[in-house]
Amino acid sequence: MAEVKAYAAYKAKEKLQPFTVARRELQPHDVQIKIRYCGVCHSDVHQVRDEWSHGIFPMVPGHEILGEVVALGKNVRRYKVGDRVGVGCFVDSCRECSACRKGLEQYCEKGFNATYNSYEKDGKTPTFGGYSSEIVVDENYVLKIPDNLSDAEAAPLMCAGITTYSPLKTWGIKPGDKVGVIGLGGLGHMAVKFAKAMGADVALFSTSDGKEKDAKKFGATTFINTKKSDFSKDHANQFDLLINTVSANIPIEEYLETLKQDGMLVLLGVPETPYSLNCFHLIMKRRRMAGSLIGGIKETQEMLDFCGKHDIVSDVEIIPIEKINEAYDRMIKSDVRYRFVVDMSTL
Ligand code: NAP
Ligand code: ZN
Ligand code: ZN
Repeated sequence: MAEVKAYAAYKAKEKLQPFTVARRELQPHDVQIKIRYCGVCHSDVHQVRDEWSHGIFPMVPGHEILGEVVALGKNVRRYKVGDRVGVGCFVDSCRECSACRKGLEQYCEKGFNATYNSYEKDGKTPTFGGYSSEIVVDENYVLKIPDNLSDAEAAPLMCAGITTYSPLKTWGIKPGDKVGVIGLGGLGHMAVKFAKAMGADVALFSTSDGKEKDAKKFGATTFINTKKSDFSKDHANQFDLLINTVSANIPIEEYLETLKQDGMLVLLGVPETPYSLNCFHLIMKRRRMAGSLIGGIKETQEMLDFCGKHDIVSDVEIIPIEKINEAYDRMIKSDVRYRFVVDMSTL
């Protein structure tokens, strides 16, 4: 067991502070990673504040991990010391169920082993995430980072990237399709970049004044300020696909009205309170709603390679670890342009 530095919330809703984590001894297929950067996802905030309940504390968040391989278990074949690698939202899964066999480990029937706020395969050792100096992960759950992507800007691809890439692929977005992205934060800005790279005509729905210029820089052709327009009427029946990245409850019925017949609204954001819905918004135009969870290992590597090919990265604000609590407060106020990334050399 190696003791490594970390930052943790000792209890639900508490501020994060210094903590020490014991990482496991290297197993034959384990890769030891020195973490250089870790992105800050809104899911970190939800979990530290225990908004999804049953949080395991102390909690070391962080599932947008970018680092360097520093040691290998004796049977590791996929990586060598010095490789630049990423780790996302899960670090293992059952590997046997039909979802795992299809490379959809995020939907593992037995529940995947999340990077933090979860347990290792023994079912009793808590997992601790990327706000730490090192992590040990099985090589099958580690991703290779293309050489042309820089460390800090690539880190958010491990969650914000794959979470938005996956539904665009699942629902087959192609040139000329009309995609609406709701919310311009960490996930939202990646959704705009990916949809644009896939040839879609992208609109961005935002509650913030002052994000129009950035939305257009990322590839949106239309910016819709939802506080200042009657958007469900102005943009009725327009979109093939809507991607909802908002971390709070939004007027979902108004957004459904902007979908074409057979259009799909994909839920990515996880508000604390349930949605209520009059079914007519779906029934009258055979519209659909679905959820989508991150992405599997195979698709995450495909997404990283797509980013390498198209030069797609996240727009980041790099912070030292002491600023993490302030970053959470700013994230809640939608004041992030567009992903905080912690420089782990400051730990
Ligand atoms: P984020 O960076 O904080 O962005 C969320 C954006 O939503 C904000 O920038 C803001 O955009 C908008 N927003 C926030 N509060 C709002 C409110 N009260 N009303 C309307 N709009 C609001 O968060 P993120 O990291 O992108 O995560 C977004 C959500 O996705 C979170 O709930 C997170 O837990 C979830 N998530 C899901 C998955 C998955 O696999 N499904 C993976 C990762 C994260 P504007 O300023 O443009 O309005
Ligand atoms: Zn995340
Ligand atoms: Zn499984």
